[in-house]
Amino acid sequence: MYQILKQIALTGIKTEAPPQPDEAMRALSQRLKQEVLASFAGALTIRHVDAGSCNGCELEINACNNPYYNLEGLGIRFSASPRHADMLLVTGPVSRHMEVALRRTYDATPDPKLVVAIGDCGCTGGIFGEGYASCGRVSNVIPVDVTVPGCPPTPYAIMQGVLTAIAQGKPRG
Ligand code: SF4
Repeated sequence: MYQILKQIALTGIKTEAPPQPDEAMRALSQRLKQEVLASFAGALTIRHVDAGSCNGCELEINACNNPYYNLEGLGIRFSASPRHADMLLVTGPVSRHMEVALRRTYDATPDPKLVVAIGDCGCTGGIFGEGYASCGRVSNVIPVDVTVPGCPPTPYAIMQGVLTAIAQGKPRG
């Protein structure tokens, strides 16, 4: 017993300290909410399309919904159907197998709509580029409004990309 208590005392607390509040993040959140309220009647719905990602970008997109980033708290939600979406969030280089599916998803999304390409792969084709199995960047397949570079981009950068797309003014009609 003494040995265990001694070991606990020597090891100390290894848990990460919780993050501190970030004023810059709060300002971004408030501005984002205003843009959503003004342009989309208080609610923006996103359809995420994995067009060939390694899933690194997906982990960061998922983090946008955690209590720290609280994307849903801003009135921005994810939908399983493009029929209900205002915006497509596309990750990965577009694999040849996903080319037709991505075009169909784009066509199925009602106008006006916005498209945000996430990650170096979505912006440029990334390390995969263009080849027999890859169409490369998302804009090679569908029109893109905003690109968010990074491998993967942070949740903060992804939220800024969404804000930038919304702040462009009225979505394409
Ligand atoms: S940008 Fe990086 S993390 Fe995102 S899909 Fe490409 S390789 Fe994966």
